[in-house]
Amino acid sequence: MEIIRTKKALRNLMEPMAASRMKFGLVPTMGALHAGHLSLIKEAKNHCDQLICSIFVNPTQFNDPHDLANYPKPIEQDINLLEQANCDILFLPSIEEMYTEAESWYVDLGELDRIWEGEKRPGHYQGVTQIVMKLFNLINPDKAFFGQKDFQQCLVIKRMIEQFELKVQLYICPTVRDEDGLALSSRNARLSKKERSEALAISKALFQIKYDFQKKSLNQLEYEALNRLTNAPGVEIEYIAICKAADLSRATNKEGELIAIVAAWVGRVRLIDNVLLS
Ligand code: AMP
Repeated sequence: MEIIRTKKALRNLMEPMAASRMKFGLVPTMGALHAGHLSLIKEAKNHCDQLICSIFVNPTQFNDPHDLANYPKPIEQDINLLEQANCDILFLPSIEEMYTEAESWYVDLGELDRIWEGEKRPGHYQGVTQIVMKLFNLINPDKAFFGQKDFQQCLVIKRMIEQFELKVQLYICPTVRDEDGLALSSRNARLSKKERSEALAISKALFQIKYDFQKKSLNQLEYEALNRLTNAPGVEIEYIAICKAADLSRATNKEGELIAIVAAWVGRVRLIDNVLLS
């Protein structure tokens, strides 16, 4: 695996590959890799000639300085995992490499920027689109792979691709979970043993919605899930809702593809998760 730290070195490496019409796949990450990230890498390997994984803890997408300061960075371990997963190129830039001092960025994301994660984490999706656009411009990937775990992020990237008429093909890969159901997340590493077991209430609430979906009304499903999470020890719920998967507007009936989404705090860690319902 080539480990590349500068845009120039990456361009130099990729130029002859592009000339020989190789297909590039991109998996953007913030590191602290786990089986969820590796499932994206595995999927990407099936669809491209050269797989580039980026690891960059992007400061512009963090609205909480505590979260940014405490984001895990086990880079040696990440490199080993990527080697084992047969990643071709690791792009590992510094902040200075990706950002000059005076840069402005705004993309119209419509309601997606104002609801759920957009509301709770102001500026988050502007930061996400800013860095993903930089990576797209630099790498010009044929395909890019994102996780359903961050479902609203997938919709945001889809919208940006459509808006700028980018040629990149978006792949959304299923959420990988621990055996007990907890969605894998780099932030899980910051949970104590007790918090880790308390966090299970989050995925359980989603699975219960899915289980009861045919039997109960949307209002009842949401009400019961909210109750369950409000009463779950150690969990502070931000939202749990049943939405249309197309745009994350609140579902008013059971037609079309629906998704249950949740965000909650466990200790000082904020977790999100979702399950598709239909
Ligand atoms: P992150 O490093 O958290 O920015 O995530 C990088 C990519 O991995 C994003 O596209 C995430 O949606 C995806 N991802 C994170 N956790 C999971 C998971 N448990 N299953 C599948 N994909 C995931």
